[in-house]
Amino acid sequence: METILSIKNLHKNYGKIQAVNDLSFDIQKGNIYGILGPNGSGKSTTLGIILNVVNKTSGSFSWFNGTSTTHDALKKVGAIIERPNFYPYMTATQNLELICKIKGVSRENIDDKLKTVNLYERRHDKFQTYSLGMKQRLAIASALLNNPEILILDEPTNGLDPQGIHEIRKIIKKIAQGGTTILLASHLLDEVEKICTHVIVLRKGEKLYNGRVDTMIASNGIIEVKAAEDSSEENLINALKNYHETASVNKEDDLLIVQLENDISAATLNRYLFENNIAVAHLVKRKPSLEEQFLDLTRNN
Ligand code: ATP
Repeated sequence: METILSIKNLHKNYGKIQAVNDLSFDIQKGNIYGILGPNGSGKSTTLGIILNVVNKTSGSFSWFNGTSTTHDALKKVGAIIERPNFYPYMTATQNLELICKIKGVSRENIDDKLKTVNLYERRHDKFQTYSLGMKQRLAIASALLNNPEILILDEPTNGLDPQGIHEIRKIIKKIAQGGTTILLASHLLDEVEKICTHVIVLRKGEKLYNGRVDTMIASNGIIEVKAAEDSSEENLINALKNYHETASVNKEDDLLIVQLENDISAATLNRYLFENNIAVAHLVKRKPSLEEQFLDLTRNN
């Protein structure tokens, strides 16, 4: 496995605010990483530090196994961390030509990158005629001009309509399939679930989880239970809470959601309830969504 980026014990304080607190994780080549956390959890600060636009307070990070200086390493990185500025009266092609000149990279990639982001047909239209989604796609094309090893995106679908969001997500996956490693920050659970292979969950600058998205989802599972109409929900809740395989019980609409300590079947739980004279109208085992995992993590911390 090839390590693209390694972050160790990173801290960032803004005065009394601890924006990043003892954060460590590695980025391996070929994966799609999501840094997931609510607003203010330190996602943008982390990206700013590794891109050398924010100074760290302490800790370290190294690109490409420390084989080059950060300055040189960043030539192999493509990043969009702010809303990009393009010239409104220039076409997509002209804007990208200008960026190639500024960055000192070859112009030969321009058409190819415009095709990657589905803007080739519109390449001669002025930037000011573009929708927000098209502007964001042009930003991605510009970040790809140097054929980066890794593409870094901060909230890539912010402000877009569902169609625009869908298109950006498809493009990110396509870029990853081409072998480019991706690191994106997002506060959207379903975005990370849909795009990413790996997730680093942050809260208040601290790491709560770091690992594969599918492993996080494929934990011990949850069982949905609903009391039978003629029996008391209170009795059911008490019985569930007393059960040794129960990790937690939460009410969601008219269902009780039981998080499990171990991977037991719905039939096993049903037998326990039956033995305790409790009838249920609904009892289904399912895998928890990333959202449920995320809520569970944040509840327990
Ligand atoms: P968002 O999506 O809202 O940007 P985030 O997860 O990216 O959230 P950061 O922007 O990294 O989080 O912010 C982390 C914490 O650091 C927040 O409490 C924020 O208010 C604070 N912070 C960020 N930048 C600065 C700054 N330049 N000066 C002071 N505090 C800052």
